[in-house]
Amino acid sequence: MSERDLLMIPGPINFDPGVLRAMSAPTAGHTAPEFVALFGETLDWMKQVFLAPSGTPFVIAGSGTLAMDIAASNLVQASDRVVQISTGYFGDRMVNIFERYGAKVTTLRADVGDVVALDLVDAELARVKPKVLAMTHVDTSTGVCVDVHAFAELGRKHNALVVVDGVCSVGGMELQQEAWGVDVAFTASQKAIGVPPGLALLVASPRALESFKKRESPVASYYSDWANWLPIMEAYLARKVAYFGTPAVNLVYALHESLRQILAEGMDKRVARHKKMSDAFKAGVNAIGLKQVAVRPDVAATTMTAPYFPDGIDAKVIGKIRERGVVVAGGLHSAIRERYFRVGHMGVISPADISATLSAIEGALLASGYKFDVGAGVAASEKAM
Ligand code: PMP
Repeated sequence: MSERDLLMIPGPINFDPGVLRAMSAPTAGHTAPEFVALFGETLDWMKQVFLAPSGTPFVIAGSGTLAMDIAASNLVQASDRVVQISTGYFGDRMVNIFERYGAKVTTLRADVGDVVALDLVDAELARVKPKVLAMTHVDTSTGVCVDVHAFAELGRKHNALVVVDGVCSVGGMELQQEAWGVDVAFTASQKAIGVPPGLALLVASPRALESFKKRESPVASYYSDWANWLPIMEAYLARKVAYFGTPAVNLVYALHESLRQILAEGMDKRVARHKKMSDAFKAGVNAIGLKQVAVRPDVAATTMTAPYFPDGIDAKVIGKIRERGVVVAGGLHSAIRERYFRVGHMGVISPADISATLSAIEGALLASGYKFDVGAGVAASEKAM
Protein backbone atom coordinates (compact mmCIF):
# COMPACT_ATOMS: atom_id res chain seq x y z
CA MET A 1 0.00 0.00 0.00
CA SER A 2 1.31 3.46 -0.90
CA GLU A 3 1.44 6.02 1.90
CA ARG A 4 -0.98 8.09 -0.16
CA ASP A 5 -3.60 5.33 -0.57
CA LEU A 6 -6.97 6.05 0.97
CA LEU A 7 -7.77 3.35 3.52
CA MET A 8 -11.53 2.83 3.30
CA ILE A 9 -11.91 -0.57 4.97
CA PRO A 10 -14.16 -0.84 8.04
CA GLY A 11 -11.21 -0.64 10.42
CA PRO A 12 -8.46 0.19 10.78
CA ILE A 13 -9.39 3.56 9.32
CA ASN A 14 -7.42 6.62 8.21
CA PHE A 15 -6.10 8.28 11.32
CA ASP A 16 -5.91 11.97 12.07
CA PRO A 17 -2.29 13.23 11.83
CA GLY A 18 -2.63 14.89 15.26
CA VAL A 19 -3.52 11.51 16.78
CA LEU A 20 -0.50 9.89 15.10
CA ARG A 21 1.75 12.71 16.32
CA ALA A 22 0.45 12.28 19.88
CA MET A 23 1.37 8.61 19.63
CA SER A 24 4.94 9.36 18.64
CA ALA A 25 5.77 11.37 21.78
CA PRO A 26 8.52 9.93 24.00
CA THR A 27 7.12 7.18 26.22
CA ALA A 28 6.62 8.16 29.85
CA GLY A 29 6.78 5.60 32.62
CA HIS A 30 3.28 4.38 33.46
CA THR A 31 3.70 5.66 37.02
CA ALA A 32 4.94 9.12 35.99
CA PRO A 33 2.66 11.87 37.35
CA GLU A 34 2.04 13.32 33.87
CA PHE A 35 0.95 9.91 32.56
CA VAL A 36 -1.30 9.29 35.57
CA ALA A 37 -2.99 12.65 34.91
CA LEU A 38 -3.36 11.95 31.17
CA PHE A 39 -4.70 8.41 31.65
CA GLY A 40 -7.14 9.63 34.32
CA GLU A 41 -8.48 12.30 31.96
CA THR A 42 -8.71 9.71 29.15
CA LEU A 43 -10.87 7.48 31.36
CA ASP A 44 -13.14 10.42 32.24
CA TRP A 45 -13.54 11.16 28.52
CA MET A 46 -14.34 7.49 27.77
CA LYS A 47 -17.42 7.82 29.99
CA GLN A 48 -18.46 10.92 28.05
CA VAL A 49 -18.03 9.26 24.66
CA PHE A 50 -19.98 6.17 25.78
CA LEU A 51 -22.57 8.47 27.42
CA ALA A 52 -22.24 6.48 30.63
CA PRO A 53 -21.65 8.94 33.48
CA SER A 54 -22.05 6.22 36.17
CA GLY A 55 -20.04 3.64 34.24
CA THR A 56 -16.57 2.29 34.94
CA PRO A 57 -14.27 2.54 31.93
CA PHE A 58 -11.57 -0.01 31.08
CA VAL A 59 -8.74 0.72 28.64
CA ILE A 60 -6.70 -2.45 28.15
CA ALA A 61 -4.03 -3.36 25.61
CA GLY A 62 -5.48 -5.80 23.10
CA SER A 63 -7.80 -5.87 20.10
CA GLY A 64 -11.59 -5.79 19.98
CA THR A 65 -11.71 -9.53 20.51
CA LEU A 66 -10.16 -8.97 23.94
CA ALA A 67 -13.04 -6.60 24.73
CA MET A 68 -15.48 -9.37 23.73
CA ASP A 69 -13.56 -11.79 25.94
CA ILE A 70 -13.59 -9.40 28.90
CA ALA A 71 -17.37 -8.91 28.62
CA ALA A 72 -18.14 -12.61 28.36
CA SER A 73 -15.64 -13.98 30.87
CA ASN A 74 -16.56 -11.52 33.62
CA LEU A 75 -20.34 -11.72 33.24
CA VAL A 76 -21.04 -15.42 32.79
CA GLN A 77 -20.33 -18.51 34.84
CA ALA A 78 -20.76 -22.11 33.70
CA SER A 79 -24.37 -22.94 32.77
CA ASP A 80 -25.55 -19.31 32.72
CA ARG A 81 -28.04 -18.63 29.96
CA VAL A 82 -27.30 -16.09 27.23
CA VAL A 83 -29.45 -14.87 24.35
CA GLN A 84 -27.33 -13.55 21.47
CA ILE A 85 -28.81 -11.56 18.61
CA SER A 86 -26.48 -12.33 15.71
CA THR A 87 -26.37 -10.35 12.49
CA GLY A 88 -23.18 -11.87 11.13
CA TYR A 89 -19.65 -13.08 11.71
CA PHE A 90 -18.98 -11.08 14.88
CA GLY A 91 -22.25 -12.06 16.56
CA ASP A 92 -21.32 -15.68 15.88
CA ARG A 93 -17.84 -15.06 17.34
CA MET A 94 -19.46 -13.71 20.51
CA VAL A 95 -21.48 -16.93 20.79
CA ASN A 96 -18.21 -18.93 20.63
CA ILE A 97 -16.69 -16.79 23.36
CA PHE A 98 -19.71 -17.10 25.69
CA GLU A 99 -19.70 -20.87 25.11
CA ARG A 100 -15.97 -21.05 25.87
CA TYR A 101 -16.84 -19.77 29.37
CA GLY A 102 -19.54 -22.38 29.82
CA ALA A 103 -22.65 -20.36 28.98
CA LYS A 104 -25.66 -21.96 27.31
CA VAL A 105 -26.40 -19.67 24.37
CA THR A 106 -29.58 -19.25 22.36
CA THR A 107 -28.68 -17.50 19.10
CA LEU A 108 -31.37 -15.49 17.29
CA ARG A 109 -30.71 -14.83 13.63
CA ALA A 110 -32.68 -13.50 10.70
CA ASP A 111 -31.82 -13.94 7.00
CA VAL A 112 -28.45 -12.45 6.02
CA GLY A 113 -28.88 -8.67 5.90
CA ASP A 114 -31.82 -8.54 8.28
CA VAL A 115 -32.39 -8.39 12.06
CA VAL A 116 -34.56 -10.70 14.12
CA ALA A 117 -37.95 -9.13 15.02
CA LEU A 118 -38.50 -7.49 18.41
CA ASP A 119 -41.47 -9.69 19.35
CA LEU A 120 -39.46 -12.83 18.67
CA VAL A 121 -36.68 -11.60 20.96
CA ASP A 122 -39.28 -10.69 23.59
CA ALA A 123 -40.73 -14.22 23.45
CA GLU A 124 -37.30 -15.87 23.64
CA LEU A 125 -36.29 -13.73 26.62
CA ALA A 126 -39.51 -14.74 28.38
CA ARG A 127 -38.84 -18.43 27.63
CA VAL A 128 -35.07 -18.56 28.30
CA LYS A 129 -34.84 -15.99 31.13
CA PRO A 130 -31.15 -15.39 30.36
CA LYS A 131 -28.60 -13.69 32.53
CA VAL A 132 -27.27 -11.82 29.48
CA LEU A 133 -28.79 -10.44 26.29
CA ALA A 134 -25.99 -9.64 23.83
CA MET A 135 -25.96 -8.03 20.40
CA THR A 136 -23.59 -6.51 17.86
CA HIS A 137 -24.57 -2.89 17.20
CA VAL A 138 -23.04 -3.01 13.72
CA ASP A 139 -21.86 -6.36 12.43
CA THR A 140 -18.88 -5.45 10.30
CA SER A 141 -19.33 -8.56 8.17
CA THR A 142 -22.71 -7.36 6.86
CA GLY A 143 -23.02 -3.65 7.65
CA VAL A 144 -26.26 -4.49 9.45
CA CYS A 145 -27.12 -2.44 12.53
CA VAL A 146 -29.57 -3.38 15.26
CA ASP A 147 -31.87 -1.11 17.26
CA VAL A 148 -29.86 -1.20 20.49
CA HIS A 149 -32.33 1.09 22.29
CA ALA A 150 -35.32 -1.18 21.63
CA PHE A 151 -33.49 -4.46 22.32
CA ALA A 152 -31.90 -3.09 25.51
CA GLU A 153 -35.36 -2.11 26.73
CA LEU A 154 -36.48 -5.72 26.22
CA GLY A 155 -33.38 -6.97 28.03
CA ARG A 156 -34.21 -4.73 30.97
CA LYS A 157 -37.84 -5.86 30.97
CA HIS A 158 -36.66 -9.46 31.33
CA ASN A 159 -33.99 -8.58 33.88
CA ALA A 160 -31.04 -9.56 31.69
CA LEU A 161 -27.69 -7.78 31.62
CA VAL A 162 -27.39 -6.07 28.24
CA VAL A 163 -24.08 -6.40 26.37
CA VAL A 164 -23.38 -4.45 23.18
CA ASP A 165 -20.47 -5.03 20.83
CA GLY A 166 -20.01 -1.48 19.62
CA VAL A 167 -16.72 -2.12 17.83
CA CYS A 168 -18.08 -0.76 14.56
CA SER A 169 -20.34 1.89 16.10
CA VAL A 170 -19.00 3.67 19.22
CA GLY A 171 -17.89 7.17 18.28
CA GLY A 172 -19.74 7.06 14.97
CA MET A 173 -23.32 5.95 15.60
CA GLU A 174 -25.62 6.95 18.44
CA LEU A 175 -25.17 4.68 21.46
CA GLN A 176 -26.45 6.15 24.71
CA GLN A 177 -25.14 3.51 27.04
CA GLU A 178 -26.65 4.69 30.31
CA ALA A 179 -29.93 6.17 29.05
CA TRP A 180 -30.64 3.03 27.01
CA GLY A 181 -29.82 0.65 29.88
CA VAL A 182 -26.77 -1.01 28.33
CA ASP A 183 -24.66 -2.75 30.99
CA VAL A 184 -21.49 -3.40 29.03
CA ALA A 185 -20.58 -1.60 25.83
CA PHE A 186 -17.23 -2.06 24.19
CA THR A 187 -15.20 -1.12 21.18
CA ALA A 188 -11.67 -1.28 19.82
CA SER A 189 -9.43 1.69 19.12
CA GLN A 190 -9.07 1.28 15.35
CA LYS A 191 -12.56 2.17 14.14
CA ALA A 192 -14.70 5.25 14.78
CA ILE A 193 -12.63 6.05 17.88
CA GLY A 194 -9.80 6.82 15.46
CA VAL A 195 -6.72 5.34 17.17
CA PRO A 196 -4.38 2.72 15.67
CA PRO A 197 -5.21 -0.90 16.56
CA GLY A 198 -4.21 -2.16 20.00
CA LEU A 199 -6.69 -0.98 22.64
CA ALA A 200 -9.77 -2.76 23.93
CA LEU A 201 -12.18 -0.13 25.28
CA LEU A 202 -15.08 -1.09 27.51
CA VAL A 203 -17.49 0.62 29.92
CA ALA A 204 -19.37 -1.37 32.58
CA SER A 205 -22.52 -0.21 34.38
CA PRO A 206 -22.88 -0.40 38.19
CA ARG A 207 -25.30 -3.31 37.61
CA ALA A 208 -22.69 -5.23 35.61
CA LEU A 209 -20.08 -4.73 38.33
CA GLU A 210 -22.57 -5.78 41.04
CA SER A 211 -23.27 -8.97 39.14
CA PHE A 212 -19.51 -9.54 38.73
CA LYS A 213 -18.93 -9.10 42.48
CA LYS A 214 -21.54 -11.79 43.23
CA ARG A 215 -19.72 -14.43 41.16
CA GLU A 216 -19.15 -17.76 42.86
CA SER A 217 -16.35 -18.95 40.56
CA PRO A 218 -13.24 -16.97 39.57
CA VAL A 219 -13.01 -15.57 36.04
CA ALA A 220 -11.32 -18.26 33.93
CA SER A 221 -9.21 -15.76 31.95
CA TYR A 222 -6.46 -14.26 34.11
CA TYR A 223 -5.75 -11.31 31.78
CA SER A 224 -9.43 -10.43 31.32
CA ASP A 225 -10.42 -10.65 34.99
CA TRP A 226 -12.00 -7.44 36.28
CA ALA A 227 -10.67 -8.37 39.73
CA ASN A 228 -7.25 -7.51 38.32
CA TRP A 229 -8.25 -4.44 36.30
CA LEU A 230 -10.91 -2.74 38.41
CA PRO A 231 -8.47 -1.45 41.09
CA ILE A 232 -6.21 -0.15 38.31
CA MET A 233 -8.91 1.79 36.49
CA GLU A 234 -10.29 3.11 39.79
CA ALA A 235 -6.81 4.27 40.79
CA TYR A 236 -6.16 6.14 37.52
CA LEU A 237 -9.65 7.67 37.70
CA ALA A 238 -8.61 9.00 41.13
CA ARG A 239 -5.28 10.16 39.60
CA LYS A 240 -3.36 7.56 41.60
CA VAL A 241 -0.74 5.06 40.51
CA ALA A 242 -1.48 1.34 40.30
CA TYR A 243 -0.04 -1.56 38.38
CA PHE A 244 -1.36 -4.83 37.00
CA GLY A 245 -0.09 -4.95 33.39
CA THR A 246 1.92 -2.19 31.73
CA PRO A 247 -0.50 0.11 29.90
CA ALA A 248 0.09 0.75 26.17
CA VAL A 249 1.41 4.22 27.03
CA ASN A 250 1.72 5.58 23.48
CA LEU A 251 -1.67 4.24 22.42
CA VAL A 252 -3.14 5.95 25.48
CA TYR A 253 -1.55 9.22 24.28
CA ALA A 254 -3.26 8.68 20.93
CA LEU A 255 -6.57 7.82 22.60
CA HIS A 256 -6.37 10.94 24.75
CA GLU A 257 -5.93 13.12 21.67
CA SER A 258 -8.63 11.33 19.69
CA LEU A 259 -11.20 11.49 22.50
CA ARG A 260 -10.37 15.17 22.91
CA GLN A 261 -11.14 15.72 19.22
CA ILE A 262 -14.33 13.63 19.40
CA LEU A 263 -15.68 15.57 22.39
CA ALA A 264 -14.64 18.89 20.81
CA GLU A 265 -16.73 17.99 17.76
CA GLY A 266 -19.60 16.90 20.07
CA MET A 267 -21.31 13.52 20.05
CA ASP A 268 -24.51 14.68 18.34
CA LYS A 269 -22.63 16.49 15.57
CA ARG A 270 -20.32 13.53 15.10
CA VAL A 271 -23.20 11.08 14.77
CA ALA A 272 -24.94 13.45 12.32
CA ARG A 273 -21.74 13.80 10.25
CA HIS A 274 -21.36 10.02 10.01
CA LYS A 275 -24.98 9.73 8.90
CA LYS A 276 -24.49 12.41 6.26
CA MET A 277 -21.35 10.75 4.87
CA SER A 278 -23.12 7.39 4.91
CA ASP A 279 -26.25 8.74 3.20
CA ALA A 280 -24.07 10.31 0.51
CA PHE A 281 -22.05 7.14 -0.05
CA LYS A 282 -25.15 4.95 -0.12
CA ALA A 283 -26.87 7.32 -2.57
CA GLY A 284 -23.80 6.89 -4.79
CA VAL A 285 -23.77 3.10 -4.74
CA ASN A 286 -27.54 2.97 -5.29
CA ALA A 287 -27.23 5.30 -8.29
CA ILE A 288 -24.83 2.92 -10.04
CA GLY A 289 -27.10 -0.04 -9.38
CA LEU A 290 -25.38 -1.79 -6.48
CA LYS A 291 -27.64 -3.39 -3.86
CA GLN A 292 -26.56 -3.52 -0.22
CA VAL A 293 -26.38 -6.54 2.10
CA ALA A 294 -28.54 -4.67 4.64
CA VAL A 295 -32.05 -5.32 3.38
CA ARG A 296 -33.58 -1.98 4.42
CA PRO A 297 -32.28 1.49 5.33
CA ASP A 298 -33.38 1.07 8.97
CA VAL A 299 -31.02 -1.91 9.42
CA ALA A 300 -28.09 -0.31 7.56
CA ALA A 301 -25.12 1.02 9.56
CA THR A 302 -23.91 4.57 9.04
CA THR A 303 -20.26 3.73 9.80
CA MET A 304 -19.87 1.40 6.80
CA THR A 305 -21.60 0.07 3.69
CA ALA A 306 -21.58 -3.47 2.31
CA PRO A 307 -22.58 -3.41 -1.39
CA TYR A 308 -23.09 -6.53 -3.52
CA PHE A 309 -21.16 -6.71 -6.78
CA PRO A 310 -23.45 -6.15 -9.77
CA ASP A 311 -24.19 -9.08 -12.10
CA GLY A 312 -21.13 -10.20 -14.05
CA ILE A 313 -18.63 -8.56 -11.65
CA ASP A 314 -16.61 -10.41 -9.02
CA ALA A 315 -14.07 -9.71 -6.28
CA LYS A 316 -11.36 -8.94 -8.85
CA VAL A 317 -12.84 -5.45 -9.01
CA ILE A 318 -11.43 -4.82 -5.50
CA GLY A 319 -7.92 -4.99 -6.99
CA LYS A 320 -8.94 -2.48 -9.65
CA ILE A 321 -10.29 -0.12 -6.98
CA ARG A 322 -6.95 -0.45 -5.22
CA GLU A 323 -5.05 0.37 -8.42
CA ARG A 324 -6.93 3.67 -8.29
CA GLY A 325 -5.54 4.41 -4.82
CA VAL A 326 -8.49 3.37 -2.67
CA VAL A 327 -8.44 0.33 -0.40
CA VAL A 328 -11.78 -1.39 0.30
CA ALA A 329 -12.38 -4.76 1.99
CA GLY A 330 -13.66 -8.04 0.57
CA GLY A 331 -16.54 -10.12 1.90
CA LEU A 332 -16.40 -11.79 5.32
CA HIS A 333 -19.76 -13.46 5.90
CA SER A 334 -19.39 -17.11 4.84
CA ALA A 335 -22.82 -17.34 3.16
CA ILE A 336 -22.09 -14.49 0.71
CA ARG A 337 -18.33 -14.01 0.93
CA GLU A 338 -17.62 -13.89 -2.83
CA ARG A 339 -20.58 -11.70 -3.70
CA TYR A 340 -19.94 -8.39 -1.95
CA PHE A 341 -17.38 -5.92 -0.60
CA ARG A 342 -17.19 -3.61 2.37
CA VAL A 343 -16.40 0.08 2.71
CA GLY A 344 -15.79 1.90 6.00
CA HIS A 345 -16.64 5.58 6.35
CA MET A 346 -15.90 6.58 9.90
CA GLY A 347 -13.71 8.83 12.01
CA VAL A 348 -12.14 11.73 10.13
CA ILE A 349 -14.03 10.77 6.94
CA SER A 350 -14.64 13.81 4.68
CA PRO A 351 -16.81 14.55 1.63
CA ALA A 352 -13.63 14.34 -0.50
CA ASP A 353 -12.98 10.78 0.76
CA ILE A 354 -16.53 9.75 -0.18
CA SER A 355 -16.23 11.22 -3.68
CA ALA A 356 -12.77 9.72 -4.26
CA THR A 357 -13.99 6.29 -3.15
CA LEU A 358 -17.07 6.37 -5.37
CA SER A 359 -14.98 7.60 -8.28
CA ALA A 360 -12.49 4.74 -7.82
CA ILE A 361 -15.37 2.22 -7.61
CA GLU A 362 -16.91 3.63 -10.79
CA GLY A 363 -13.56 3.54 -12.60
CA ALA A 364 -12.95 -0.04 -11.54
CA LEU A 365 -16.46 -1.14 -12.58
CA LEU A 366 -16.05 0.56 -15.96
CA ALA A 367 -12.70 -1.19 -16.46
CA SER A 368 -14.41 -4.49 -15.55
CA GLY A 369 -17.01 -4.11 -18.30
CA TYR A 370 -20.02 -3.18 -16.16
CA LYS A 371 -22.55 -1.10 -18.11
CA PHE A 372 -23.80 1.91 -16.19
CA ASP A 373 -24.12 5.66 -16.32
CA VAL A 374 -20.52 6.65 -15.49
CA GLY A 375 -20.41 9.53 -13.01
CA ALA A 376 -23.93 8.86 -11.68
CA GLY A 377 -22.60 7.61 -8.34
CA VAL A 378 -20.42 10.64 -7.65
CA ALA A 379 -23.23 12.95 -8.80
CA ALA A 380 -25.83 11.31 -6.54
CA SER A 381 -23.52 11.49 -3.55
CA GLU A 382 -22.72 15.16 -4.17
CA LYS A 383 -26.44 15.90 -4.30
CA ALA A 384 -26.96 14.08 -0.98
CA MET A 385 -23.98 15.77 0.70
N1 PMP B 1 -16.70 -6.92 16.75
C1 PMP B 1 -16.88 -6.26 15.61
C2 PMP B 1 -18.22 -5.73 15.29
C3 PMP B 1 -15.80 -6.05 14.76
O1 PMP B 1 -15.97 -5.37 13.63
C4 PMP B 1 -14.52 -6.54 15.09
C5 PMP B 1 -13.31 -6.32 14.20
N2 PMP B 1 -13.53 -6.08 12.89
C6 PMP B 1 -14.40 -7.25 16.28
C7 PMP B 1 -15.49 -7.40 17.09
C8 PMP B 1 -13.09 -7.81 16.70
O2 PMP B 1 -12.13 -6.81 16.84
P1 PMP B 1 -10.58 -7.08 16.58
O3 PMP B 1 -10.41 -7.45 15.15
O4 PMP B 1 -9.96 -5.76 16.92
O5 PMP B 1 -10.18 -8.18 17.50
